[in-house]
Amino acid sequence: MVNVVRETNGNSLTIRLSGPIEESVNFDELVGAVPGELRIITKDVPRINSVGVKAWIKFFQGVSARGVKLVFAECSTAIVEQINLISNFTSGGSVESIYVPFACNQCKAELIGLFSCDALKAAGLEIPDVQCSKCPGKAVFDDIPEEYLGFLQR
Ligand SMILES: [Zn+2]
Repeated sequence: MVNVVRETNGNSLTIRLSGPIEESVNFDELVGAVPGELRIITKDVPRINSVGVKAWIKFFQGVSARGVKLVFAECSTAIVEQINLISNFTSGGSVESIYVPFACNQCKAELIGLFSCDALKAAGLEIPDVQCSKCPGKAVFDDIPEEYLGFLQR
């Protein structure tokens, strides 16, 4: 079951979603009144299935149609996959930052790193290696760049 934590800051509402989005979710009820800007943080959304995607798109298209500015931040890898697969997944909103999967060369640990989309674009969509958090080894990007970062080239 997905949980929503709301945080209002002036004319902006930030919602932090956590849990898998796998059934018909009543986002209208969960999110409540939305002001001029809605920031959506999905760091803790591990999965979303086709039913969840339908509810997601219906809700965000409705909000966007009312003139609300949508900003998606700290997108989990599951959400990034959907952004790449479904062209209107963000309903015209912007994607501020995403989690990127890494795998360690030495201990095979799987890690994630947060990157701002502006920084990725400025770096020519090159994702640098990162220090493994579990051993002295180097962790490298663990997906297909053209696919995982495809939405940034649209
Ligand atoms: Zn390691």
